[in-house]
Amino acid sequence: MLATEPISTTVTGASDAPRRLRLFIDGAFVDALSGRTFQDISPVDGRVVAEVAEAGAEDVDRAVQAARRALDGPWGKMPTAARLDLIAKVADRIMERFDEFLGAEIADTGKPVGWACDVDIPRGAANFRIFANLLRNLPTESFQTDTADGEGALNYALRSPVGVVGVICPWNLPLLLMTWKVAPALACGNTVVVKPSEETPATATLLAEVMNEVGIPPGVYNVVHGFGPGSAGEAITQHPGVSAITFTGESRTGGAIMRAAASTVKHLSFELGGKNPAIIFADADFDAAVAGTARSTFANCGQVCLCSERIYVERPIFDRFVAALKAEAEKMVLGDPTDPATTMGPLISRGHREKVLGYCELARQEGATVVTGGKIPDLGGTFAEGAFIEPTIWTGLPESARCVREEIFGPVCHIQPFDTDEEALAMANDSPYGLCAAVWTGNLGRAHRLARRLETGMVWINTWFLRDLRTPFGGVKLSGVGREGGAHSVDFYTELKNVCVKL
Ligand code: NAD
Repeated sequence: MLATEPISTTVTGASDAPRRLRLFIDGAFVDALSGRTFQDISPVDGRVVAEVAEAGAEDVDRAVQAARRALDGPWGKMPTAARLDLIAKVADRIMERFDEFLGAEIADTGKPVGWACDVDIPRGAANFRIFANLLRNLPTESFQTDTADGEGALNYALRSPVGVVGVICPWNLPLLLMTWKVAPALACGNTVVVKPSEETPATATLLAEVMNEVGIPPGVYNVVHGFGPGSAGEAITQHPGVSAITFTGESRTGGAIMRAAASTVKHLSFELGGKNPAIIFADADFDAAVAGTARSTFANCGQVCLCSERIYVERPIFDRFVAALKAEAEKMVLGDPTDPATTMGPLISRGHREKVLGYCELARQEGATVVTGGKIPDLGGTFAEGAFIEPTIWTGLPESARCVREEIFGPVCHIQPFDTDEEALAMANDSPYGLCAAVWTGNLGRAHRLARRLETGMVWINTWFLRDLRTPFGGVKLSGVGREGGAHSVDFYTELKNVCVKL
């Protein structure tokens, strides 16, 4: 059953007229109480994709109240198996409405259809499937305890939902990253208030329709659109009815959320920024390392938190590697994201492009050799109104340069030569961030040694972004707080209670 007119018509219809995206509170699509809206702009050609209802603190309060009621009502009382059956149906329904999710994601982000087809939408469904399965088979812990009277005691642990979870999301992988949080939160019996990025409101809204279609009770999944400071995002972080916040976004925003959440002592899980190294040894499979690094640098226009922006290459293959990566960069096809031949879409917005272009200028000032890119491509037509940028490679910067130290979050990288394992390791670890690293080598002993000493939450060896959703995901240093994935998500989205029974 649909709560209002289908959102599908609001995000993927044939007409180019702006659509209307509303909030989703207590199972119904509603306008903001203030009546305010904001515009969702296409980064492909600058057209207005949607008018979006802009939630204020009063709308967030409505959503939190609805989420609390659902927790105490049908959702909280539903048997686990029935709850997980509904969650599995969400996965199925996303796949049935694949093309609509695809259209909505591409309209908001401009990401190439090939990538969105292979990564964003299937992962959105897989997130629900894996956590529905995981929770079906979750064991609990118990201990037999000796006592002085010889009778003993039995300890066992019970899990319960944390409560209402605030889910604050970025724009780079909107459906994928939002469902990475919503799926385990719901599977564990929580209810959620989701704030998608203001840049990418569409797929979270479409998912609301799916929630109603499969019979998820009202109030379990709520969506409030809006901004961060002084808007819906901040209202979630301050609301006393929100028990936990799971956030993916910039490290600086993580700090602001931590401060705002402190007064109500919320549980926090943060997946934050990165300045990820890729280390390529001369004994690596050269072609695989080049192809893998081209992907890890330029995928999604460099807008994946796991992308490599610092590349360290062993000196004997340095020149050859730079030339090969340059050739890969110059092969990228920029343009219409719905054309299967396109391999690189635009950045998320003109504003973000200004930031990335600022780093391109800074790199020149800092003394970089521009191997390729660094400019706005001449694509012509309506694309001139978009946020396209050339894939960019620099060499010759010192490790102290801002372009080597700061997260840029675009299709840019700096390549540095190294002579020894220790030197590569020292440069890779010399960063305020610690999300992930990629190591390319034919020597597995070396790979394992480096993996142990790299100061990151994840290491890929001879691959990149190969994900098993049961594994721990997260970063160290400025790159995050806590881990999600598999049992680690369950730990975050549940409270454990120990029961001790004297026998
Ligand atoms: P951002 O921090 O600007 O915004 C993320 C979300 O937080 C948005 O919904 C925004 O409206 C909201 N927000 C902003 N300020 C807030 C505040 N004070 N209180 C509450 N909410 C607030 O991040 P972004 O630009 O959308 O995303 C890009 C960043 O995300 C990059 O730094 C990238 O590395 C990071 N990221 C990390 C991971 C990871 O898993 N570690 C994954 C994807 C993206």
